[in-house]
Amino acid sequence: MSKAKRIAIIGGGFGGLSAAISLRSRGFEVDLYEMTATLGGKAGTRNLGNYRFDTGPSLLTLPQVFDRLFSKAGKRREDYVEFMPLDPITNYWFSDGSRLAGRPLPFLIDELEKSLGVPRQESERFFSYAEDIHTLTTPVFLERSLHEFSTWVSKPAFKAYSQIHKVDIFRTMYSSLSSFFSSTKAIQLFSRFATYNGSDPYQAPATLNTIAYVEYGLGGFGVKGGIFALTKALEKLCTDIGVIIRRNTKVESIELDKSDRIQGVLIRPLGQDTSSIPYDAVVSDLDILTLYEHILKKPKDSAPIRFKKLPPSTSGLVFYWGMNKSYPDLGVNNIFFSQDYQKEFFQIHHEQRLPDDPTVYVNITSKISPEDAPPGGENWFVLVNAPPDGGQNWQEIAKYYRKKVIKILEASLGVDVEKAIEVEEILDPKSIMENTGSWRGSLYGISSNTKAAAFLRPSNRVKKYPGLYTVGGSVHPGGGMPLVTLSGMIAAELLEKYEGSVE
Ligand SMILES: Cc1cc2nc3c(=O)[nH]c(=O)nc-3n(C[C@H](O)[C@H](O)[C@H](O)COP(=O)(O)OP(=O)(O)OC[C@H]3O[C@@H](n4cnc5c(N)ncnc54)[C@H](O)[C@@H]3O)c2cc1C
Repeated sequence: MSKAKRIAIIGGGFGGLSAAISLRSRGFEVDLYEMTATLGGKAGTRNLGNYRFDTGPSLLTLPQVFDRLFSKAGKRREDYVEFMPLDPITNYWFSDGSRLAGRPLPFLIDELEKSLGVPRQESERFFSYAEDIHTLTTPVFLERSLHEFSTWVSKPAFKAYSQIHKVDIFRTMYSSLSSFFSSTKAIQLFSRFATYNGSDPYQAPATLNTIAYVEYGLGGFGVKGGIFALTKALEKLCTDIGVIIRRNTKVESIELDKSDRIQGVLIRPLGQDTSSIPYDAVVSDLDILTLYEHILKKPKDSAPIRFKKLPPSTSGLVFYWGMNKSYPDLGVNNIFFSQDYQKEFFQIHHEQRLPDDPTVYVNITSKISPEDAPPGGENWFVLVNAPPDGGQNWQEIAKYYRKKVIKILEASLGVDVEKAIEVEEILDPKSIMENTGSWRGSLYGISSNTKAAAFLRPSNRVKKYPGLYTVGGSVHPGGGMPLVTLSGMIAAELLEKYEGSVE
């Protein structure tokens, strides 16, 4: 009787979960190892008193990626978790006191005109351009491996070559936005999308303008029960289709034979001795540098040396505040912009420090999931962009920025914030690194500040170590929940191609 190939997945973030589901759906035997007690990695959950918080991601885009993952496993996403289209998606406050309701298209065009005086033709031209980038790049850059010859000679690739000027690779996001909009506020608004993969709009290629279309053209979503409800849904799907999940089990190393082919993994279940388990292939959901340094123990390979030279994405300083009051002016997602955006990004990306005047993001899941806070209260997730960990004194920094952030919010909202904080906890880049193994606590792996980093992220298949595949925010196609989930699907396809199908 033939026997299905056995695959180990290291890490239960969205990338690992997606790879596990995709491989199991293809008939492989899959064991998923997660070093902590809970799955989800950065997309975890935390309870403080009577408040519940999502630990990391908050805004969901491209929900169809998740629908596809469920349907590949023969299930319906709607039977597991509810996505809630947001309108407005985000509320914006500008430093001069003006406000904008970030509603989905076509309403955003009216809002831009009404609140910021942006001529309709400017917005219409911009969104048609951003939609073109999305249509041309998605089938080539996001849904396939860029390290396969077949991708470059595929039909969608030839379509993209023939209209390459539309992909806007050579300008920066900022210079492109300045060519569409006369309003500095509109430029600031759309520059913000560079932060969706931890990049700097003054350096990152204009191709990233596609994100504005993805969010406002295709929609921004909340999840009923918070993003962690999606983590739980993926976990249930894994269990339903027969993925074996081993929590509290750290993978200490990957074992190779003499020709550097994957042999298996060395695991350490919590409180127990290590044991060696053979596998036909391994999928790593770890940050690529953590994988090379700590698990493969090959820090001198050319790959990690090259990746270390690429700029890591930003990290974040997060305040989880249980508020004993509610704030009707706020929605699920709220942005309080700094006055000088260029200076803010310069300080984060070049000076590697928190900006003097930070843009503040407030996410409140209890607006759509009231059970996340006690009656009359709200659960605030408050984030400022931060450089990755470089040995800073985060306790001191957090103390200083707590005051600053409260001052910004109180001035913008004209109400008390500090007095309403009933419970709180802080997450800094060092704790993100320690909790999830992400390199220097970066949120999205490598940033897209250079063209090499944006378009040539590490492959989902490690050729040097046959049988090793990679997923997650630091590899192709990039960070953020939908892309990381796509990485799991791409890796599964590659694994089947190179390791042979199930038998
Ligand atoms: C504060 C914050 C805000 C964010 N906001 C957004 C947002 O709004 N929208 C969005 O789309 N994205 C957002 N992101 C990014 C998003 O969370 C990530 O891109 C995505 O969740 C990363 O998934 P991943 O598969 O790379 O793995 P991770 O989430 O990094 O998970 C890796 C897993 O591997 C486990 N692990 C590590 N080492 C080992 C080992 N040796 N053995 C076994 N297990 C191991 C870890 O415990 C962890 O569970 C945010 C992230 C953060 C932190």
